[in-house]
Amino acid sequence: MEQRVESGERRAAFIVLVMALMLAAPGCSKPRVRLVSAGIPGGMISYYTCSLCGSVKTVTKSGGRRSETITYKSPGYAACPHIWKVGVSRFAEPPITDGRIVLVKRGRALGALILRNQKLQPAHTDFVWYYRNDGKGTFRKRDVGLFRTGSGSSRSKARLMEQLKFGPFSVVWCSTEDGKGMVAYAELPGGAMTTGDTLICPTTETDIEKIDATDPKWVYRASVGDPGRSGTAP
Ligand SMILES: [Zn+2]
Repeated sequence: MEQRVESGERRAAFIVLVMALMLAAPGCSKPRVRLVSAGIPGGMISYYTCSLCGSVKTVTKSGGRRSETITYKSPGYAACPHIWKVGVSRFAEPPITDGRIVLVKRGRALGALILRNQKLQPAHTDFVWYYRNDGKGTFRKRDVGLFRTGSGSSRSKARLMEQLKFGPFSVVWCSTEDGKGMVAYAELPGGAMTTGDTLICPTTETDIEKIDATDPKWVYRASVGDPGRSGTAP
């Protein structure tokens, strides 16, 4: 009996996560990157993040019942007294400075995204991209013909948050200040990778000639708390 209840809860938690991703509202600047709550069949789910350790809990209200679930336990969870603040963010910390390489992975495809000219008001970014589909991870001049490259810009000045798309990748970006912005993980904190996710690995590297996306030191994640995988993982 208890087993059945537990698997039912797990199913409910899955539905909740999917709904939350679909309902993640556009709009950025720090306070608004946080998803506060989302409707679920027959109820509502609210998100809270601990301002001390970064763990995430959800409160589900459905049919007069209220239940709490810790959906992401950060490494400091056990020792933390927890101060819960409403909202949850998918964005990687710290913000990404202009010129720094964000590595991306989707299946065997590996790529690099470099943000340039990030502006807060009005929100804007230019970006340069590279990717290849053969499982290799260099984008040097001598590799020409083995990778694709191009550039783009955020489309609308009215929106603070945008999906930057190139090749098979899609990365949500938002501006935080001139010269800096944030990129989002595909999943909420603690969420597992699902098919089609663009995995990200922010770096402090700036030289596309020197970086190798398959270097084992680069860990590609679907969420905060995802243990991640190397560039050569399937
Ligand atoms: Zn805490």
